[in-house]
Amino acid sequence: MRLISTEIGSSAPLAHHPDRFDLSRGLASSPAPTGELEHAGSCSRLTVPFNAATAWAFLPIDAVGSRGDRLPAFQGGHFEMRDLLGVNQLLLAVLIFVPFERLFAARPQKIFRRGLLTDMAFLFINGWLVLAGVIAVTTVAILVNQSVLPAAVTQTIGNLPYLVQVPIVILIADLGIYWTHRILHIVPAMWQIHSVHHAVEELDWLAAIHQHPLDVIFMKAGALFPLYALGFSTEAIGTYLLVYFWQTWLVHANVRLSYGPLRYILVSPEFHHWHHSSEAEARDKNFAGFISFYDVLFGSAYLPKARKATTFGVDHPMPTKYLALLAYPFIAWASKRKRNDPPAIQPQLSNGGEPAQPRHSAPLS
Ligand SMILES: [Zn+2]
Ligand SMILES: [Zn+2]
Repeated sequence: MRLISTEIGSSAPLAHHPDRFDLSRGLASSPAPTGELEHAGSCSRLTVPFNAATAWAFLPIDAVGSRGDRLPAFQGGHFEMRDLLGVNQLLLAVLIFVPFERLFAARPQKIFRRGLLTDMAFLFINGWLVLAGVIAVTTVAILVNQSVLPAAVTQTIGNLPYLVQVPIVILIADLGIYWTHRILHIVPAMWQIHSVHHAVEELDWLAAIHQHPLDVIFMKAGALFPLYALGFSTEAIGTYLLVYFWQTWLVHANVRLSYGPLRYILVSPEFHHWHHSSEAEARDKNFAGFISFYDVLFGSAYLPKARKATTFGVDHPMPTKYLALLAYPFIAWASKRKRNDPPAIQPQLSNGGEPAQPRHSAPLS
């Protein structure tokens, strides 16, 4: 297993760090997407992706092996990416969530449920597909930071104390998650991508990674683009990614957890379970990742009292194998194009899947 170690927050010149990526030399000049982009501004530096902190963004549920206990916020500036496949994270998540679901199960469900092998494929393959997209997104965001936004703005943001940046980063990122997620639901072509995530019928913590790579890239773009463009510190963004990493597992976990009076402030498992519900009233609701108040604010919250979401999935057949799920939106788009181009021949999707029909959503508010 490859060992990559990078510093975060160093302001030393790029030339002295062979692992670092120099934007002025272009992507091809980087030996691997694991260094740092560093912008030495006149008054503050911007240290940006391609390190372990932001590598979390690359994988479906950020399952890259960064060690949270080494976050600079807690330990003073050093990340170690020692497990690029995220095996350490997965083992830790297994140790936490399997007993957690046994003890506090919301529904009776087997550990070795249907689709487990497919989820393993999502876990270990998806991240590499997501990598290129997220690198592109963050690279453009950095260019915007350096070339478009006034330096006074980005430097002021970058100089904010870490403890001030973190809550702002979470607020901004989750607003991005909210709207990208909502677009994935209300735009029919985007729904073909996102329906892969909603195809899961036995919801548990591992269902978090059952997402098409285009879906992950789009949502990561919504969260990370503004953060890198505005110049938030890598430490603050890394902290957000660390918390989001565990939040994603948690909200999918088959556990009874509703957060009581905080349920309209923070996204709980109960809140996100309703998002996955196959009940008509719950459709296209609860888009936030962290802050359920966004759903209250934009009129999409759905959290009925004294009832739990019990059935999940979509109302049309979906493939069940990894490669078929990967191909699903492309086949659905091609199928729709042919339908709209008479005389069309209705193509058949392999594996029993059929293109998702447009969903009726609540109007944008
Ligand atoms: Zn969704
Ligand atoms: Zn979900």
